[in-house]
Formats: sequence, structure tokens, C-alpha cells
Amino acid sequence: MEKLDILSMSLSELETALLSMGEKKFRAKQIFEWLHIKRVFDFSLMTNISSALREKLDEKFEILQLKIVKKLCSQIDGTIKYLYELSDGNHIECVLMDYHHGDSICISTQVGCKMGCKFCASTIAGFKRNLTPSEMLLQIYTAEKDSGRKISSIVMMGIGEPLDNYDNVIKFLGLVSSPDGNNMSLRHLSLSTCGLVNRINELSEHKFGLTLSISLHAANNKQRSEIMPVNDRYPIEELIAACKKYIEKTGRRISFEYALINGVNDDRETANELISLLRGMNCHVNIIPVNKIKERNFKTDTSSVRRFQHYLEEGGLNATVRRTLGSDINAACGQLRREYEI
Ligand code: SAH
Repeated sequence: MEKLDILSMSLSELETALLSMGEKKFRAKQIFEWLHIKRVFDFSLMTNISSALREKLDEKFEILQLKIVKKLCSQIDGTIKYLYELSDGNHIECVLMDYHHGDSICISTQVGCKMGCKFCASTIAGFKRNLTPSEMLLQIYTAEKDSGRKISSIVMMGIGEPLDNYDNVIKFLGLVSSPDGNNMSLRHLSLSTCGLVNRINELSEHKFGLTLSISLHAANNKQRSEIMPVNDRYPIEELIAACKKYIEKTGRRISFEYALINGVNDDRETANELISLLRGMNCHVNIIPVNKIKERNFKTDTSSVRRFQHYLEEGGLNATVRRTLGSDINAACGQLRREYEI
């Protein structure tokens, strides 16, 4: 019989499982605490549980773990990039960043990606599989254990499209914020999507406190379809309409990511289009200098960054420029995994 992935189970699922084993319900909470608060990943060390039950647990459940196969530490700003090996031999990345208000981690949600964005390293070799909730959580738990640092915010902006792994991501959000476990407020979490409109609509029903980031990167359909194939399925008008509905339902401000690409989307006219597209929305634009990837020729003209920000601000939009961290260790997503797998 295949063992159950216990780190992907919610407390109530664990309670049901324990009851069906003829055990008391409160045992589930004890085990949940060992896993998600004490971070003990070995049943034999769970000392408030009888040795007979510990053996039964070992037969029924497995506690997955991630192996750190590479760790790059930035000499400039304390950023750490981990390359993890999953139990099936696949690899994923996550990045730990030191911000003024505490440490933040950027996690992956899939092995590879199907979305095909032209500027992104994560999608070049295609898609392998979805990550389980436990594999998302373990990126955080493993980085905290290894670095000794406490993570106070999470961004889901690593490899993969979170809303293309919808059910597991929703489960992960429940686990990471569980008051009986890791207990992180979803106000400290950002989820970034290339714009799967149907899933944005579904997500709005949960009314999570998280920040939704939309990878917009263009101001019209022609421009966007050239760099993001997902735009053919969900064009800009539908995406913006879904964002407006999301804001209305959740009361949360949306963040639009905008990678500024030299000669593609950094001119005055595009800025004006972006202003008319977003004006009046409760939103914020985050301008991103493009991370160069060796397979592609996209770059940002550094002199255009402040200029573009100024255009947007003049037009009444709230715009910031993303700080570049870990530039000496190729901290942008997808790059390390690719180097390792080639
Ligand atoms: N699939 C999700 C999350 C992963 S990508 C999404 O599309 O949002 C995380 C962010 O990094 C996205 O905004 C993505 O467009 C951006 N990104 C990817 N490659 C980049 C690159 N080479 N330079 C700058 N930003 C990049």
C-alpha cells in the first residue's frame, strides 16, 4: 500500500485518518504540531506518542523531505538560493531574501511550466509535474532550518504557474496559515499569476487576505500575445475585468508586475495605454528590470526604468521599481535548475 503524504494533510484530514485507525482525535493535533511547529520529521522522535502508535504511523504515512543539492549565498545582500531535489529526483528552486521588514522566501509551485512566456527561464524545458502541498511547505521549512532565519513573508513567484496547480496551492495556503501549525497570516503572502482568468474568479470566492500579483508585462493584446501565449486564451480585457471583480470581492489591492523590455513595452505610448487600462483601479504597478537569461535576448534599458515609472506616476498610477537582489547568484527563477539539469 502506498503511504500517505502526511505533510500535505490538513488537521481535519489527519483527525479523520487517526479516528479510522481507532485512535483518539487529539493525537492528530499532537502529530500536526510535531510536523508543522516543532518541524520533527521522524515519527520515532515524537515522544508524547506511544511507541506502538509511532510504528503504526510509520507504516501508514510518509514524511517527505527535500534534499539541498546546491546552495548559493550572495556576497552582496545575503540572498540565498537553494536547489532542492524532490523524492522522485526532480529539481526545484527557492530563494531566501533579506528585506528590511524580515526575511521573505520565493517558492516554486511546479516542476517546469506550461505557460511559455518568452522571457522566462522556467518554461524553456517545458512542464514535468505539479508540486504537492508538502513540497511547497517544505521549501519554507527546509530553508528556515538550514539558514536559521525566520521567514516572515512568502511570494509564490518561483518556477511554475500557481493557478495551474490550483487545488494543491489552495491546500498549501490552508496549511501554511493553519493556526494549529505554521500559523502565518496570508496577508504576508503574494501569489503571482500570468493570468488564468477562470482560476482568478475561483480564487476570489475564498476571500483570502493574500496579495494577488498579475504578470501583465504589456498594455495591449498584440504586445502581450507576442511575449505571453496565455494571452491568446485570456486576453487583456477579460483579465482586467476579472481583476476588477477580484478587487470588489476581496477588498484587496492588486499588484501588476511589469517587466520592462527594451524596444517592446517601454515607450511613452505603451505607458499611456497602461494608464488608461488601469486608471481608477485599486492597484499598484511593480516595474521589473528583466533578468537576462542566456537563451533569450530580452533586456532592460536601465535609463528607461525611472522614465517609465515617472510616466505612470504622472498618469496617476502608483508605481514602484523592484529591487534587484542576489544578482551575483543568478537569483531569478528557473536559472539554476536549468543549469543543473542540462
Ligand atoms: N507563473 C507565475 C509565477 C512565476 S514567474 C507568473 O507568471 O506570475 C514570477 C514573475 O517573474 C512573473 O512576474 C514573471 O513574469 C517574472 N519573470 C519571469 N522571467 C523573468 C525575467 N527573465 N525577468 C524578469 N521577470 C521575469
